[in-house]
Amino acid sequence: MTAAIIDGKAYAEALRARVAAAVPAFVEATGRKPGLAVVLVGEDPASQVYVRSKGKAMVAAGLESFEHKLPDTTTQEELSALVERLNADEAVDGILVQLPLPKGVDEKAVISTIDPAKDVDGFHVINAGRLAVGEEALVPCTPLGCLMLLRDRLGDLSGLDAVVVGRSNIVGKPMAQLLLQENCTVTVAHSRTRDLPGVVRRADIVVAAVGRPQMIRGDWLKPGATVIDVGINRIQIGEGKTRLVGDVEFESASEVAGAITPVPGGVGPMTIAVLLRNTLVAAHARAGLPAPEGL
Ligand code: NDP
Repeated sequence: MTAAIIDGKAYAEALRARVAAAVPAFVEATGRKPGLAVVLVGEDPASQVYVRSKGKAMVAAGLESFEHKLPDTTTQEELSALVERLNADEAVDGILVQLPLPKGVDEKAVISTIDPAKDVDGFHVINAGRLAVGEEALVPCTPLGCLMLLRDRLGDLSGLDAVVVGRSNIVGKPMAQLLLQENCTVTVAHSRTRDLPGVVRRADIVVAAVGRPQMIRGDWLKPGATVIDVGINRIQIGEGKTRLVGDVEFESASEVAGAITPVPGGVGPMTIAVLLRNTLVAAHARAGLPAPEGL
C-alpha cells in the first residue's frame, strides 16, 4: 500500500482564506479589526522566526498584529504586568506569549495571568479544564489542526481506535481530549508505555507527538491506519547538511498507512492557520457576536 498524502499546507491555506473572508463582517460589526498581541522575550532565533511568521500571517489575513519584544533580562513581574495591560486592552482579542521563556521566568505563572477569553494558545488551565469537561474552549492550535486534518480525511471518527504518542500539555493531552470528544477509543502512550509498537499497531489513527526523529516505523502500523506526524526534528544528513523529519519514519510508514502527513508540509502549517482561526473566534466571543461559520 502506498499512503495518500495529507496535504496540511493546502488545508492551512484554505483555512487562512476562510478566516480572511470572515474578517470584513467583523470589522463592519465592530468598527475594528480582530487583534493578536504576540509577546517575545529574549533572543531565541527559532522563536524570532515563529513570531515573525505569525505576524505576517495575521496581517495577510486582515487581522491586527501587535508585537511586544522584551529583553531576556525581563522579570516575571514585568512580563505579568504587560500581560495585565494586554488583558485590559480593548483592541487585543488574543494574547500569545511565545515559549520557551528565559530561565527564571515561570511559564505557568505567566500563562495563568492571561485572560482565558484571550488565551488563543489554549494553554490556560481554565481552557484546558473546559476542553476536558466538553465545554466551549479555546483549544491549543496544533492538536486542533490535527483534528481538522483527520476530520477532513476520515469524516466521522466515531468508534475508531486512536493512539496518541506523547502526553505534553500542548499537544498530546489536548489531542487525546479532542479525539475522545469525537467518540474515538483513545490510548495515550508515553515514555513509560510497555510494548509501544504493539500499542501503536492497534490504532486506526496514530498521532505522533514525541520529539524523537523517525521513531515510529512502518512495521509498527496497522495496514491502512491514518498517521498524523506532529514531530519536527532537524537531523544531520552529511557534512554541514540538515533535513527536517517527523517522529514517524515516512518511507516505511507510507508503505503501510492509508494516509499520512508529510514533514514538512503536514501539521506544521496548520498551527499558524489555527492561531488565526482562534483569534477570530475569540474576537467574536468578546464582541458578543456568533462564531463565524465554517471555521
Ligand atoms: P514534549 O517533549 O513536551 O513531549 C514529548 C512526549 O513524548 C512526552 O509525553 C514523552 O513522554 C513522550 N516520549 C518521549 N520519548 C518517548 C519514547 N521513547 N516513547 C514514547 N513516548 C516518548 O514535546 P511536545 O509535545 O511539545 O512536542 C512533540 C513534538 O512535536 C516535537 O517534535 C515538537 O517539535 C513537535 N511540535 C510541532 C508543532 C507543530 O506546529 N507542528 C507544535 C508543537 C510541537 P513522558 O511524558 O513520559 O516524558
